[in-house]
Amino acid sequence: MRDLTGRLDLCCINTATLGHREPIERIAERVARAGFGFVTPWRHEIDEKRPQAAAAAIRAAGLKLGGYCRTTYLSADDAAGRREAIADNQRAIEVAAELGAPFLVAVVGGLAPHSSDAVAGRGHILDGIAALRPTLRACGVRLALEPLHPFYAADRSLLSTLAQAVDWCEQLDDGGPPCIGIALDAYHVWWDPALSASIARAGPHLLALHVCDWLRTTRDPLLDRGMMGDGVIDLRALRAAAEATGFAGPVEVEIFSQADWWTRDPDDVLATCSERLQRFC
Ligand code: ZN
Repeated sequence: MRDLTGRLDLCCINTATLGHREPIERIAERVARAGFGFVTPWRHEIDEKRPQAAAAAIRAAGLKLGGYCRTTYLSADDAAGRREAIADNQRAIEVAAELGAPFLVAVVGGLAPHSSDAVAGRGHILDGIAALRPTLRACGVRLALEPLHPFYAADRSLLSTLAQAVDWCEQLDDGGPPCIGIALDAYHVWWDPALSASIARAGPHLLALHVCDWLRTTRDPLLDRGMMGDGVIDLRALRAAAEATGFAGPVEVEIFSQADWWTRDPDDVLATCSERLQRFC
């Protein structure tokens, strides 16, 4: 297992951690100044018609791209809506390539707005992912499927567990060059009784490791994530398990925290991330 002491160059800041309060150029400069090696931006921070400017600013700051967040939901009520989602995600993959991001994070979508059929929904989502394979391969970008806590099944993700993500990777393997993997987010998977067994299976598919903490008393499962060390997740054990399977990517901090960390000074947040990564992750 890698020692993160003094190795922030192995660590990544997902820009959501800073609350999307500043332009990407300013964020990149702060993240680099704090010593981190990687940054993962979100689509709404990037001018997708001209991503070269953001790419140049991130490079000039001395940072590499961790990944790019994230897909449009692939579930929709009709075929036209699903086609539209695929087209939008194809554009996101092209932008990820232009930015130099190795993967696009996929939050796959929950139930379609007027559906209560989770089985059909999962089928449509799988078809949508399969349709993205040619673009992924042409662009040299992977899709990192992120299983979300089942709390979000209705509105954000019918992909709910790590085991299911591994199953989908295997199901979507068409024998061509690998283009689909997994983003493992501690917040979404820590509770899972099958976690150890699933990480062992996920090994070759793991593209990203997202860390934060689950606060014992959570006020909002979407926007009240905790800083590493403030909650209940054994983050070091999780990273050890991931790295035992060969994972060697950056350790990425992703904290959605409307009432707490997003109200604080960004440089203080980054300093705390730095200290907690080395102490708890
Ligand atoms: Zn995540």
